Amino acid sequence: MGSWASKSTTVYPPLYAPAANPFSNIPGYEGIGGGGFLPPPIPLQPVAPPQPGPTPEEWNIPALSEDAAREAFKDYVQSHCCYSSGPADEGVITSIESHNTYRLRLETFTECRSTEMAEKPYEGETADFYAQPAPTPWDVEVKTPNLFTKHTEEIRVPYTSSIKECNVCHGVGTVSCKDCEGKGYKPCKYCNGSGQKEDGNCSDCNGTGKDRCSKCNAQGKTKCETCNGRKQLLTFIKLKVEWTNNEDNHVVEQSSGLKADKLHSVKGKELFKISQIMVYPLYGFPNPAIAEVSDRLIKEHQSKYAQTSRILQQVGFEKLYSKDLTYKRASLAMYGKFLF
Ligand SMILES: [Zn+2]
Ligand SMILES: [Zn+2]
Ligand SMILES: [Zn+2]
Repeated sequence: MGSWASKSTTVYPPLYAPAANPFSNIPGYEGIGGGGFLPPPIPLQPVAPPQPGPTPEEWNIPALSEDAAREAFKDYVQSHCCYSSGPADEGVITSIESHNTYRLRLETFTECRSTEMAEKPYEGETADFYAQPAPTPWDVEVKTPNLFTKHTEEIRVPYTSSIKECNVCHGVGTVSCKDCEGKGYKPCKYCNGSGQKEDGNCSDCNGTGKDRCSKCNAQGKTKCETCNGRKQLLTFIKLKVEWTNNEDNHVVEQSSGLKADKLHSVKGKELFKISQIMVYPLYGFPNPAIAEVSDRLIKEHQSKYAQTSRILQQVGFEKLYSKDLTYKRASLAMYGKFLF
């Protein structure tokens, strides 16, 4: 009973943090010394089994008209200073062959959380350690940035802050000056500290042999950098939240002759895009290659990211449109301008 009574008189929050790891008993922070990423909590509700996503009503793109093809060709020629516009203006289109090339894009937006012990100069913050139970790392409220955009946030976890004396200056706020080893002066560089020269007293130091230390203003000590001269440190658990967009593209070629590696900068016409916590393979798509690739990419991303991160995914695909135009005067295979 006696011990309980004495315990209950302890002041909370304690002014100084206990020496041992004070967070070892806080749920979610047991391994705080080890650092590293923390797996997201297992959802309380079982995750719904994957369902096929909605299928767009219209998968087809209307064919490119001859006029549109000619306009695109002219644009293409004009964008190249040394190309003659002759073929585009006067040429007769003898055939238009179209090929469909699809690009599937899977983006998995991951949120990783890690914690570590941190300290900063104490600047009057509330030492709230133990004032309330600390939220677990995945319960700390963090404002989500723009989706699918890389971002990092560092947060002081609520109810983990305590004050301690600065261990570098031992609560003094200053440390011995490194430049002059705490003396406030350095040996005069003209007389090597002797105060004498061949012709008598050294005129540079007036015979003292000392050169005033400018780093410490001759005080022999400088402000402690660790506590910024404030004598105390605030120690706390720092939560680092990192959002990353992990993107994979896959071009499904259909003998279009387009080189997949040249298509990364090309914008196509987006046919379909869906964002949700977990996306599903595009089984409804008429082209089985797209369905297969989407299935594979989704599985790859799940196994890569789901263990360590909270994830949000979006999948989309575009039709990259290419045409070979055979002209009377010129034959060009193009991409870029003929993608829409
Ligand atoms: Zn200090
Ligand atoms: Zn001197
Ligand atoms: Zn000094």
